[in-house]
Amino acid sequence: MTREDKANRGWVEARADAILEGVPDYIWNGEELPVPVEKIVSNTFGLLIREVEDMTEAPGLEEERSTNVSGLLLTGPGEIWVNAAEARQWEGRKRFTICHELGHYVIHQDSLEPTVFCRRIEVVDGAEPGPVEDPRAELEREADAFAAALLMPAALVAARRVALDDDLAALCAEFGASEKAMRYRLQAVPATEG
Ligand SMILES: [Zn+2]
Repeated sequence: MTREDKANRGWVEARADAILEGVPDYIWNGEELPVPVEKIVSNTFGLLIREVEDMTEAPGLEEERSTNVSGLLLTGPGEIWVNAAEARQWEGRKRFTICHELGHYVIHQDSLEPTVFCRRIEVVDGAEPGPVEDPRAELEREADAFAAALLMPAALVAARRVALDDDLAALCAEFGASEKAMRYRLQAVPATEG
């Protein structure tokens, strides 16, 4: 991991933490798992989440770039679209994609296109980020870091991995996260004593 990666993660992580702290108690008490990310997206940010069978219906999505779209953000109407086939197959993946799109909405507010679409290869679900050559890849990495931090808040991961003795399946079930995303998160968040 490069120095730049760490710097990015810190900044993005802080934004995600601040958002979670600002969530009113009646939506989330800061402890209960899994984090109700869909409620937070709709109640706190007023974004509509839709599971869509055919992502090519999205306005502004050119056909040649429409394959393997995992999620997208319509900034005008304030909608997050999630690939319905993926959502059915992997609940954790769906939650990650929703958080990834929220990440674009929250941290890239000033540089957003009317339609922000993210292909499967870009929503990396917590995988080790690749080299950064273009600004778009940089934004995708930031959105992924934000998603991981929202779905698997560092303080809760640190505590629960101790309580569950790093049982990966149990951690995934508690946080509603995919194995891949949790595995990567465990590398990033050290365990805390008791
Ligand atoms: Zn994205």
